[in-house]
Order: sequence, then structure tokens, then C-alpha cells
Amino acid sequence: MSGLLSASELKSQFPILQQEVNGHPLVYLDSAATSQKPRRVIEAVQRYYERDNANVHRGVHTLGTRATDAYEGAREKVARFINARSASEIIFTRGTTTAINTVASSYARAVCKPGDEIVISPIEHHANLIPWQQAAKATGATLKHLPVNDDGSFDLEGAAKTITPNTKIVAFTHLSNVLGVVNPAKELVAMAHAVGAKALIDGAQSAPHLKVDVQELDCDFFAFSGHKMCGPTGIGALYGKREILEKMEPIEFGGEMIDFVDLFDATWKEIPWRFEAGTPIIAGAVGLGAAIDFLTEIGMANIEAHDRKLAAYAYDRLSAMDGVTVYGPSSGRTSLATFNLDDVHPHDVATVLDAEGVAVRAGHHCAQPLMRWLQVTATARASFYLYNDEADIDRLVASLQRAKEYFGHAIG
Ligand code: PMP
Repeated sequence: MSGLLSASELKSQFPILQQEVNGHPLVYLDSAATSQKPRRVIEAVQRYYERDNANVHRGVHTLGTRATDAYEGAREKVARFINARSASEIIFTRGTTTAINTVASSYARAVCKPGDEIVISPIEHHANLIPWQQAAKATGATLKHLPVNDDGSFDLEGAAKTITPNTKIVAFTHLSNVLGVVNPAKELVAMAHAVGAKALIDGAQSAPHLKVDVQELDCDFFAFSGHKMCGPTGIGALYGKREILEKMEPIEFGGEMIDFVDLFDATWKEIPWRFEAGTPIIAGAVGLGAAIDFLTEIGMANIEAHDRKLAAYAYDRLSAMDGVTVYGPSSGRTSLATFNLDDVHPHDVATVLDAEGVAVRAGHHCAQPLMRWLQVTATARASFYLYNDEADIDRLVASLQRAKEYFGHAIG
């Protein structure tokens, strides 16, 4: 236990964590892929379906009003959670991927032309890479990459040269899902603004682990997913500054997003509804609102301190093991540790750990260019959240030690 949060007390609020896997108490170390859900989030979704379910923004009947209030109430919670100026700056999406695609397909395609630049980085998740590749191809803009230091951290001096007056968009991850390093987001946003470019932050990994304040960061867009922060799958959000969203065209069309329609043309609702065509993920938004209440009651500052402490402990324990390579910088880390064991394939490592009830992820983590930069095809990754404690990392290390002995004998 970190001493900041009682992880065992918190763990008891997560029904899924109460089970044994392969005869061992489950140690869930895959929260970077998706977090587990506390009972109150599960119950909020269930309650919504049992009491309030109806479509939003249409019905005048009581359930319709309740569903609309619940959905729009969740939007208010998201706005407060990241300190947006107003709920109208929050667009509900399926998650980070859809949020980034919205900006790349709408904003980028409207503003970019040949000669312009879209700047991303080589450490991005595919969700913050491929939409920009596509936008660059569609507009003739040039895709550029921020330089990184040997440990994968951003080279800010180099960044100042890569971002030029031709740059229209700078998009980067706040917290790498592979390297576990918190990037200097505020500095990069300021660099983008200095040349008149807009900045998008991929907050998929930061929103669950850091206190995010979009006004303080001054980013133009911030994208994140509910399922990584104790909320349901299928719901996330795109924050955008009002004055930018108001000038953006929707990328999906249909019901719920229109103002006036005739047989040949239509006009759009105001933001944010203009970007939410069709029946939205109402129960998901309700669940995300409940997750935000949960995280807010615990306190994001406490969660941040807990997760940073766990990440430092995991880094120290894993890097002290003979034959284990931990990737990414040694400091400024939170929430995860990505590693490899000797020449053993990470899938084999993860399989042996799973046999002892320890769930870690193995693969390329949707970051193939970063894997190539690290000169590996895949890695294992242990990722932590508020329900984990040092004892979970001790279990990981003990199982890894046995895996090492097993493969050492198997190979030797
Ligand atoms: N960016 C980062 C840094 C991520 O870790 C992830 C999820 N692994 C995503 C984007 C995509 O999130 P989602 O799949 O929820 O859209």
C-alpha cells in the first residue's frame, strides 16, 4: 500500500477483483488497456436502465426528461473534471480514437493545404498517428515528428525547430502508454501557439492518472476514454475550445445533430450536439459520470501521488532484476512499466504470469513505430491503478522470477 490510498479498501469496491484466476487471487495489472469498474459505476448503469431509460433530447415524457438530464448532467461532470469553461466544449465520443478522428477529419482537413505541417511524435499510439497520416494524405500537408531523446522523452530544444510557422497542428500524447512518462504538455502547447498552430493532447492515459486542467494546459483539444478511468467502454470525450468547435463542420450526419432540414439541405445544431449524430451512448455517459464522482471523491491529487509512487516502485524492482529491461526514462514516470525478460517472447512471459493469476499485457501496444524505435517486436507491460498496491508488484516480481527460472531452464 502506498500510504496515500488504502488500495485494499478500494479493491473491495471492485467486484471483478474479488476472484481467483488459475487458483490464485487475481492481480490485475492491465489498467492501461482498460481499468476495472467499481460497484457504484456498474450500479449507476443498471439503475439508469431500470428507472430512466428513454431517448434523449426528444421526448417530452418524464423518462425522456430524466434520460436527457442524466446525459447532460454527465457532460457537466466531464467539463468540471477537466476544468473546461463550459459543458458545451465537451463532445461525447466512443473514446479517444473517435475524438482524435473527429479533429483529424474535420479541423485538419478544413485548415491544412500543401506546404502546411502536421506535427506528431514517434511515440504515439496508433490512435494519434493514423488519423494524422490520413489527414496529411488527404490535404497534401507534410507529416513531421518531434525529436525524442535516447530514453524516449521529448527533446524540447529539437521540438522548437520541428514546429515552424507552417505548422497547423501539433498532436502528442500526454502520458505514453508504453514509456509511462508524463510529457511536458504545457510547454509543447505553448510552442504550437507561438507559431499560430493548434495543439491536441491525447489524454487517454493521463486523464485516469493526473489532475487535468485544460485551461491551465491551454490545449485546443483534449481527447480521452471513459473505460480507462473506471467508466464503461464505448464512451469518451473530446474537449475543444468553444471558438474552434464553433467553426468546425460535423463529420457524421443524421438525427440529433440538425437544426432545420429540407429535402436538399440541412443546418446544424449548436455545439456540442452538432457533433453527436444519432442516439448517443446514454448509459455510457451516465456510467462515466458515476466514475468521475468516484475519482473526484478519492481526489485526483491522491490518485496521481499513489500511481506515481507505484510506478517508481515497479521501475526500481523490475530494473533491479537480472535479465529484465525496463523501457522509458527512469524518472517522471507514472502508472505503468513496460519491460522484457532476456530473449523470452513477452507473450510467453505473460502466459506464465497468467498461470499465477497475474494479468499483464504483451504485444506492440498499438505503437508499432515506437516498438521499432526500441528495437523490439513486442514487450510486456504491467500497468497500475488506484486498486493496486506494492504487494501486487511484489507478486509480479515473484512470478517473473519464476518465469525467468523456468525459461532459463527451458532455453538452457
Ligand atoms: N492513446 C493512448 C495513449 C492509448 O493508450 C489508447 C488506448 N490504449 C488510445 C489512445 C486509444 O484509446 P481508445 O481505444 O479508448 O479509443
